Amino acid sequence: MNRLIIIGASGHGKVVADIAKLSGYTDIAFLDDAPGLKVVSGYPVLGAVSTFSAFSQDDFFVAIGNSDIRRRIQDEISSSGARLVTLIHPSAVVAQDVVIGEGTAVMAGAVINPSVRIGRGCIVNTSSSVDHDCVVGDYVHVSVGTRLAGSVCIGSGSWIGIGAVVSNNLSVCPNTMIGAGAVVVRNIELPGTYIGIPAEQIQVAS
Ligand code: UDP
Repeated sequence: MNRLIIIGASGHGKVVADIAKLSGYTDIAFLDDAPGLKVVSGYPVLGAVSTFSAFSQDDFFVAIGNSDIRRRIQDEISSSGARLVTLIHPSAVVAQDVVIGEGTAVMAGAVINPSVRIGRGCIVNTSSSVDHDCVVGDYVHVSVGTRLAGSVCIGSGSWIGIGAVVSNNLSVCPNTMIGAGAVVVRNIELPGTYIGIPAEQIQVAS
């Protein structure tokens, strides 16, 4: 198996490294711009993110929670021709026909039901569920414990907060943040931040 280079050696990076190990990677290292980082979770930090092209024979995964940064770095690595992988925790339940884009992580205990499509660079976080026929765009974060009911559409770059619920057949437009524990019961067509039960907009995205 190739070495895996994980970009980002903080909390999200550690979780990703754990999934990588459980997926069979025996040689794992980080790149991170924070000065002075040498070892994280027992894995070496080999240098700054900008040095990634020195590792072109290795597999890559971008494990930075911020979706704009994740997108920028993943696009850069992808354009260089390097290999980006998809990581799925062995305890996740993923139906056979689900399509998952490169650079997406599916964490422990997540359930993804049939006919779902998940884009590139997404995070399907711990114990979340994505039900049948959902379409999740690129660089979406489905946070810990979130519930997406059947046939929900989440636009790219959106962040569905911890424990939020999106009712069936609804769409959330791109670049939208749904707050922790919010319940979405109607389509969200204007980018922004929505909180509460039912979820209401609190601020328009700039
Ligand atoms: N980071 C980096 N280069 C960047 C942006 C972020 O190396 O351009 C690193 C940063 O130093 C930190 C990690 O990515 O170690 C982001 O960690 P943070 O705790 O902010 O959030 P997480 O990604 O774990 O959710």
